[in-house]
Amino acid sequence: MTGALTLGHMLGDTVMDVLARYHRMRGEPTLWVPGVDHAGLATQVEVRRRLQRQGTVFEDLPREVALAEIERWRAEHERRIVEQIRAGGFSVDWTRFRYTMDAASVRATREVFVSLFREGLVYRGERMVNWDPRLRTAVSDLEVVHSEEEGDLLFVRYAWADGAPEGILVATVRPETIFGDVAVAVHPEDERHRGEVGREVVVPLTGRRVPVIADRSVDPLFGAGALKITPRHDPIDREIAMRNPGLATPTEIFDEQARLVGEWVPSEFRGLDRDEAREKTTARLEQEGLVVRRTRYRHAVARSERSDAVIEPRLSTQWFVRMAPLATPVVDAVRRGEIRIHPERWNRTFFRWMEEIQDWCVSRQVLWGHAIPVHYCKACGEATANVEVPTECPSCHGRDLAADPDVLDTWFTSWLWPFVALGWPERTADLERYYPTSVLVTGRDIMFFWVARMMMAGYRFMGDRPFSDVYFTGMMRDEAGHRMSKHLGNSPDPLEVIRERGADALRFALVFPNPTDEDSSFGAATLDGGRNFLTKLWNLVRFSLGHIPPGTPAPESPPALVPGSALENRWIVERYQRTAAEVDAALAAFEPSRAATALHTFVWHDLADRYVEIAKDALFGHRGEPLQRETQATLLFVVERTLRLLHPFVPHVTEELWHAIPHEGPLLARAGWPRSAEVSPDPIAEVEMGPVLEAVRLFRNLRAEEHVAVSRTSRAWIRPSGPEIERVLVSERATTARLSQIGELSFLDASAPPPPGTASRVSSIGEFYLERPAGGPGGSAALEREREMLAGLLAKTQARLTDTGFRGRAPAEVVREAEAKAAELKERIDRIDQRIREETPP
Ligand SMILES: [Zn+2]
Repeated sequence: MTGALTLGHMLGDTVMDVLARYHRMRGEPTLWVPGVDHAGLATQVEVRRRLQRQGTVFEDLPREVALAEIERWRAEHERRIVEQIRAGGFSVDWTRFRYTMDAASVRATREVFVSLFREGLVYRGERMVNWDPRLRTAVSDLEVVHSEEEGDLLFVRYAWADGAPEGILVATVRPETIFGDVAVAVHPEDERHRGEVGREVVVPLTGRRVPVIADRSVDPLFGAGALKITPRHDPIDREIAMRNPGLATPTEIFDEQARLVGEWVPSEFRGLDRDEAREKTTARLEQEGLVVRRTRYRHAVARSERSDAVIEPRLSTQWFVRMAPLATPVVDAVRRGEIRIHPERWNRTFFRWMEEIQDWCVSRQVLWGHAIPVHYCKACGEATANVEVPTECPSCHGRDLAADPDVLDTWFTSWLWPFVALGWPERTADLERYYPTSVLVTGRDIMFFWVARMMMAGYRFMGDRPFSDVYFTGMMRDEAGHRMSKHLGNSPDPLEVIRERGADALRFALVFPNPTDEDSSFGAATLDGGRNFLTKLWNLVRFSLGHIPPGTPAPESPPALVPGSALENRWIVERYQRTAAEVDAALAAFEPSRAATALHTFVWHDLADRYVEIAKDALFGHRGEPLQRETQATLLFVVERTLRLLHPFVPHVTEELWHAIPHEGPLLARAGWPRSAEVSPDPIAEVEMGPVLEAVRLFRNLRAEEHVAVSRTSRAWIRPSGPEIERVLVSERATTARLSQIGELSFLDASAPPPPGTASRVSSIGEFYLERPAGGPGGSAALEREREMLAGLLAKTQARLTDTGFRGRAPAEVVREAEAKAAELKERIDRIDQRIREETPP
């Protein structure tokens, strides 16, 4: 609800749609439930920001007005997100659309809270929480970003209470917290402080006397080895204070906006926010001559992911879920493979977190969210959790009840999604039929926020796994390598991309270059790749249409190919079959990129570039009518089946093209997935086609590298390396010559001398000779020009490689590519030098 979907969401949705369409075409019952969550804190942050731009302070609004603003935001953004999902062509079931604040979700959330409350798995406690003073709420550990920042480390002298000279030196980056000090702690074995434990010091600027205590957790190497103890505002200090029960009970020195408050704070500082307070405290300490030393210091700072405010550790009363008992069945289930994580390597991260799991702080001090279903009796103080709002206290029957003012963390509803989306707590038909579900596709950034918690909720409330497979997509990065996020605003708007490039170009670009376990960078070039592929497919089908005779029926079965059929027809059908098997295997293994890559290679190289080129002669009738008919049937069969294989990836274009060719049925989306082993395997076809394609490749390279112009009369020779290769090449002589643009192709036997005036290459399948036209293009002037051009490129590449900045910054893959390019350029230059030497008379 926080805004628009990013390309990262589009990647996840595309993978989901590929799987959904694939399984639907295979005839399996496939349900994909769409929905949105209310994104409580995040939405409130956005609404607050929008109001701020209009000069309104969110916190000053009456509750109803504030909620109305949020509701207005929700309505706008839900529409936008729904529009994006539709534009992407994602085949969700709109009749089952759900929202995490709809009536059924409210009921489910309350049921779950009450059930955990009654089992003692949810409790209210005073704990040190991460407090965001800008948003004035607790946030979870997962919503805190840690980084190193520079600050001033002050060495402050705490004078001895008995008036003895000197005192004890305390190092701190937060002098404004001294008002909350209850002690100064030193390490018990620190020689420098021997004899000081038990004495009293005066807290600067306050006159309050506090004891020096000993605690083993004090780091003697930090500062001067003495630590000021502020238990309400630092988790370590709190632990130390709890081990030393004799200390004073501190009051709170910061309010919810981190302004100094309370009787321990001298009046001149009260009301200052913590930044002003830090400056003023530092200045006053210096005036008093208590700052002995001051240095710059890098230290860890925790900031709120939502607001960027520095987190204030704060002791406050919150609701927590006990996670360890919920985590145990999940860890067991993943260990025994009941839930599988893809790619597998994320298991390690998953287990590490599950084993160190902390209790989950689920209360939030924001407006937007599910109310915590707890009421407090004003008479006896009893707290009760109820699905329905209670009318009296169950303990004293008092009727004066106060509702808990907080709301629940959004994830406290989202973690119930796999069964609430199917109708829980009602025993609905959907729940019976579809729970446990099959697949969850998501980003690994919410592995713990969402994925692990859904597993816990599934086992706890349904007694079963929520899904059998989890697939984590990579994270999308922009061209500068930054992770795309709503937060950074560096994701292009998917709707705009779709308007400009089409949904299918975007979908294919998202899945194709993104290897399953890597993060991909995404930019205009990636989109061009997607669009170019679709253009290639479009042209392929348009070409095919010209060769499908009117009245041709849909290709229900493969063409009847026999050993005497054209090699290229047998070959393309075999390649199709292997591609189909690869797509099946890749999708079963949750590797959508591998499937897309197989299809891309097949369509682009095998079908469009090679097969169509080879088949043109037969299609135009130059090789007789029977072969023309066989080739037409083969082309139609392969194109029709290929559109089916491609459909899950690029549904719009394939649907359109499928309707243009002979087909059976109303919709490609509902057509069957091609049966595996529809054609009997013909591995020989692939083996025999190998030498033909290799010969064409060699002749083309030879022509390019040796600067031999295309000529209808050029002659070429092959000395095959063995009789089997010779048999194939001789039988496919016409095809080989035509594709290599050679006028006359001859074969040499083992003893024949090399033909004079030729350029040659040797490969594993034989020796290749290409006639060099006398006085033709090339010549040393042309060679010199080319050499100069290549040398320029090489110099540029080498300059890049010697730039330490480039080597340091660029991904290893890019560096490797540059190295390979440099090597290739060197080799080409060497070859030209060789030619120049040959052509220059001695
Ligand atoms: Zn009561």
